[in-house]
Amino acid sequence: MLNKIINNLKDYPEDECYEINGNIYKNKDLYKYICNIYHYVLNNNKSKKGVIVYGHKDIYMIASFLACSCAGIPYIPIDVSIPVERKKKIIEQINPDIIINKDIENIMNNENYLDISKIYMQDDDIYYIIFTSGSTGEPKGVQITYNNLKSCMRWLESICNINKGIILNQANYSFDLSVADIYLPLLTRCKHYILKRDVQRNYTLLFKELKKSNSDLAVFTPSFLDLLLVDKSFNAALMPNLKTILLCGEKLTNNTVDRLLKRFPSIHLINSYGPTECTFAVTGIKINNSNDISVGTPKDDVDIYIVNNSLEELGEEETGEILITGASVGKGYLNNNSNSFIFYKGKKGYLTGDLGYKKNNKVYCIGRKDTQIKFKGYRIELSEIEKVLNNIEYIEKAIVTTKKNDNKVSRIIAFVKIKSSYSVESKEIKEYLKRVLPEYMIPNIKMISEIPLTANGKVDAKKLLEEY
Ligand code: AMP
Repeated sequence: MLNKIINNLKDYPEDECYEINGNIYKNKDLYKYICNIYHYVLNNNKSKKGVIVYGHKDIYMIASFLACSCAGIPYIPIDVSIPVERKKKIIEQINPDIIINKDIENIMNNENYLDISKIYMQDDDIYYIIFTSGSTGEPKGVQITYNNLKSCMRWLESICNINKGIILNQANYSFDLSVADIYLPLLTRCKHYILKRDVQRNYTLLFKELKKSNSDLAVFTPSFLDLLLVDKSFNAALMPNLKTILLCGEKLTNNTVDRLLKRFPSIHLINSYGPTECTFAVTGIKINNSNDISVGTPKDDVDIYIVNNSLEELGEEETGEILITGASVGKGYLNNNSNSFIFYKGKKGYLTGDLGYKKNNKVYCIGRKDTQIKFKGYRIELSEIEKVLNNIEYIEKAIVTTKKNDNKVSRIIAFVKIKSSYSVESKEIKEYLKRVLPEYMIPNIKMISEIPLTANGKVDAKKLLEEY
């Protein structure tokens, strides 16, 4: 895979490969940047520990990912939106020799290395580490190998069927959704068209960019797609070249499918499914209408089992936990032996915590076993928010729950009881949380004086929500 990417960059120097905020980069630019950073990394990271790449959607980040990979060193992408305390926790876990940020531009632009002498990355080496929300209160580093990624990209190339087009980006590089739109263009000689965070927050700018991008393929979460569908001008006239939308990350609803197919009648809509632990996605299917929304069939080198708590396989249409085995299953969490990574029928497996069933060879994903949620497309462990709150000295107890609308989480709510010796306002709690948790994890705070209990003495979250 890396050979193919490097050869594409060298063989087609004048191809445009990356466009961001009106700046266009060609393959020859990216190749030069990679060469310079590759030598910098080889010379400065002798221990071969992971390299943190910090920033927000920039060509230096892409060049650094590829430079580290060619140097045989894992990279850890951290977006600028991640708050200070969380960054510290990630840095503590990685303990890196070097952190790359925008300052690398000096080396990237001004050194004169002309080649990648050798690709050091081996099949079983860790290729990248992406951090996700962890129920223990600490972010978890998911380790993905070169083999995992190669298998993912082979499959994506086969289902996306694109060559020399334009691929539109949504996700920032801390999320594994971005893996698809980072590597697909490099492998298929497409241009990677970037939507930065400030553009995504401004409808006028966003719609201008969508039109200007002239994209052939877009990689979105269903939540982002819903956001676009709110505006009637999101239709085939705005994006006449858009042939494929690759969705992943959360439940795709009938409502989204119906609205999308009306606006883009001939779109190739792919619903794919998978956790970060299994390298972007492991199943996919073309959705033709809203009557039957499954997550499809597994890729060739992956098996999906529906199992009960004793790991016994369940029958057709029986609901149980989705267990994934095979080539996409990552190498586990950094410094953490989780029970979710297992061996099953002689293969590496991952117990997803997702509930689902199989019908006519297709997999249907219907919810979670635990309190992990998706909110605005982001994966969140409610217990992580709860742990953070309960660790604050003036909080007696915090209960974190969600409000749903149309079966989707519309709000995260934390019910908080303050210790009687303190007087604290919700504003203060929010200010603290902003330093510790990403913006999308910050709940609405509701102060309570009593915690209602059920008949058997547990917190009555239902009653709390009703009163809210
Ligand atoms: P992430 O690690 O952020 O990709 O989140 C993975 C989780 O998102 C999965 O374990 C599922 O709970 C959920 N998910 C991903 N894709 C889908 C899908 N197509 N339909 C329903 N849930 C999904």
